[in-house]
Amino acid sequence: MAVQRLRAWLEAQRADAAYLTDPVSIAYLTGFRTDPHERLLALVLRGDRAVLVVPGLEEERAAAAAPGCPVRAWRDGDDPWAVVGGALGSARRLAVEKAHLSLAAWERLREVAGQPETVDAGAELRRLRARKSAAEIERLERAARLTDQVTGRIVAELEAGRTELEAAAAIDRHVAATGGRLSIATAVQSGPNSSQPHLGPGERRLARGDLVLMDFGVASGGYCADTTRTVVVGEPDARQAELHALVLAAHDAAVAAVRPGVTAAEVDEAARSVIRDAGLAERFIHRVGHGLGLEVHEDPSLDPGGATVLEEGMVVTIEPGVYLPGWGGVRIEDDVVVDASGGRLLTHADRALRPAG
Ligand code: ZN
Ligand code: ZN
Repeated sequence: MAVQRLRAWLEAQRADAAYLTDPVSIAYLTGFRTDPHERLLALVLRGDRAVLVVPGLEEERAAAAAPGCPVRAWRDGDDPWAVVGGALGSARRLAVEKAHLSLAAWERLREVAGQPETVDAGAELRRLRARKSAAEIERLERAARLTDQVTGRIVAELEAGRTELEAAAAIDRHVAATGGRLSIATAVQSGPNSSQPHLGPGERRLARGDLVLMDFGVASGGYCADTTRTVVVGEPDARQAELHALVLAAHDAAVAAVRPGVTAAEVDEAARSVIRDAGLAERFIHRVGHGLGLEVHEDPSLDPGGATVLEEGMVVTIEPGVYLPGWGGVRIEDDVVVDASGGRLLTHADRALRPAG
């Protein structure tokens, strides 16, 4: 289905072939996902045929995962570009992923393809991927369900004395126990560390009264979930309770704003206006959410000013936060699918500041 839609686009662009190299695009179009490291991996798509060019050590797995697609394997010591040239044939106008193709690869491609014209397929692939099929939504639902299990376990066992790194390792073990993988590097930030959204876990020990912000997710069947919960070890103080309630109100307002036809900016504004009204506009320092799928961050981006119109089948996070340097931060993140009638939450774990357990 995705391949047919891409072929229609190629035809509209008058492109003879697509030379695609992003492993996520290849997974999306063929079902074969791998990280080829430095070796050449490509999907050559023409009007009537597709060829998957893979390193020899991937041949068996590629043939099994992508049964409809002929596989041409090259071995270490071979020139993979000879295989690419053969697969491209006489293509004169080529769709490539400009954000992924290195300059070095482009120089070789130009040689074997006879100085082709190029058109960028990257935006079109991101657009196709943003709207999920029913089968993809099922996988995202499962990843979210498994993520909820992990949330329940870690919140119940969090206690003073262990370090952020130990808590993050516990989350990672719980993820493995679900049979899934990590969708993203696990974040655990305690006390004042929670005001820095991109800080990795460190050796700081959780103390009673600390805010603890945990951001993690399970990937299952290749599809990602992404969640954040902020809790307090022990009893929250008034300021913690107040900020948590504010962020939860912003979160709920954004979830309620999700439906087909609204813009990304409108969803962002639904959360942002709640935080602005509390005088903390400057402390909400990122967009309200992002798309989820084969990658944990993909289109659409729900940012202020974002013109993307939400469509049925898109799956996004809603994750407002407030960060006070030196004090700490609160973020609450859930995954939402855009249904015909509105936003439907996929993650359901308790959002309370101090859940039971
Ligand atoms: Zn997250
Ligand atoms: Zn996220």
